[in-house]
Amino acid sequence: MKQKLVHIVTMGCQMNVYDSEQMLRLLAPLNYRPTSQLDKADLILLNTCSIREKAEHKVYSFLGRLVRMKRLRPDIIIGVGGCVAQQEGYRLVERAPHIDIVFGTFALGRLPSLVEQVKDQEKQVVDVNPRGSSELLCVKGPVFKVERVTAFVTIMQGCDNFCTYCVVPYVRGREVSRKPEEILEEIRLLVQNGIREVTLIGQNVNAYGQKNGHGCDFPALLERVNDIEGLQRIRFTTSHPKDLSDRLIEAFCRLDKLAPHIHLPVQSGSSRVLSRMNRGYARDLYVKKVARLRNVRPGIAITSDMIVGFPGEETADFEATVDLVRQVEFDGLFLFKYSDRPNVPAAKFSNKVPEAVKGKRFSTLLEVQREFTLKKNKALIGTTQEVLVEGPSKKSRNQLTGRSPCNKIINFKDSANCMARAGRILPVRIVEAFSHSLLGHPVGRGHGEYSGENGGMSYAA
Ligand code: SAM
Ligand code: SF4
Repeated sequence: MKQKLVHIVTMGCQMNVYDSEQMLRLLAPLNYRPTSQLDKADLILLNTCSIREKAEHKVYSFLGRLVRMKRLRPDIIIGVGGCVAQQEGYRLVERAPHIDIVFGTFALGRLPSLVEQVKDQEKQVVDVNPRGSSELLCVKGPVFKVERVTAFVTIMQGCDNFCTYCVVPYVRGREVSRKPEEILEEIRLLVQNGIREVTLIGQNVNAYGQKNGHGCDFPALLERVNDIEGLQRIRFTTSHPKDLSDRLIEAFCRLDKLAPHIHLPVQSGSSRVLSRMNRGYARDLYVKKVARLRNVRPGIAITSDMIVGFPGEETADFEATVDLVRQVEFDGLFLFKYSDRPNVPAAKFSNKVPEAVKGKRFSTLLEVQREFTLKKNKALIGTTQEVLVEGPSKKSRNQLTGRSPCNKIINFKDSANCMARAGRILPVRIVEAFSHSLLGHPVGRGHGEYSGENGGMSYAA
């Protein structure tokens, strides 16, 4: 079979990053190999996100760029998958007739047959059937990234929380957890192939195993992952505050490989708004859980998501949010302006906040958080951080980059063979702090105090 090239554009969250890798594995038996060059590809796939209006606009603007390419090379196949595909279905091909395949979130497992159908029948195919084989798909096959030392592992899909602003339950379906044995096997395989750190992902990992009866809840799963030989660090995301149990909090003290960082989206500092969002917790409970985390694991980094301009958010609610940000002192914050999404209850709420007000609140909060991010980073100057080296830094080829246990990006100069360092944990002394990263120097005799194996990774079956 002639070798063909596939280029995947991944938009959105870590779930999509994971799904894109599954697509590559699924397409390998059809002899597709990945390419980073769009104009060389025989198959172009867009793995889309619909969480905010802006993300959806990006999809159409990218598709616009492909019109000319398709006209010049009608034989290329263009496919759109992910959440926008699931949400829009046939509307996508009506708006962008140069698309060949629309495959929703449940159709991921059927991608190879959809590609074959387009080739054989030379017609467009749309598969947004909500019953599908894609759920919790884990395809065994080649790992196509080189020199990678960290990996995402999906442990559950979908969400049953129905926060009133969120489209996820509609485009990703109900919550389903993967079997623990399957997850552990996947991680062992990744470790054999040079992965040193895994991030267990799902929309609400704290609820793992609660509905499937696999006899293993999230803290128990973490314990089993912690026992995997050769694995050095474990992270997870996203945690829902209402399901953050004391047992899970204690895991940060018990499990040596669990990195001291938690992403714990709060969304608002106003209990009134949290209730209208259907988040299932009030501000006080969130603050108590943060205190417990810091008590159990001093120095733990805490990051969060915050939405400004939720319908009905009044000045006093926004002030409560600013106050919470000052009280908690997050290590980092992902800020979003509320946007209406199809079918979600909040789209029908009255008292929409004007765009100008959202914009002003957004800038105010960003400014407040910037101060704390910098303060937290500056506090690390003079300390030595254990950095898991990922490879050369994007900014300067003379520098290496990696992350500290608290998930801070640390860049440093290394005179020795850079590539041989990937996958190792190096002690690095911090000398300068910025908003998004830290700068340091490796310490120790001739930079010799390394732990870990060489995790440089190449194609692996
Ligand atoms: N499951 C995670 C949780 O509940 O914390 C969040 C998943 S969502 C992919 C990531 C973030 O997008 C949310 O935490 C929220 O802040 C933001 N988001 C979701 N829907 C939004 C909307 N309609 N408008 C603005 N931001 C939104
Ligand atoms: Fe969306 Fe809420 Fe589920 Fe997170 S918990 S995915 S915000 S519905």
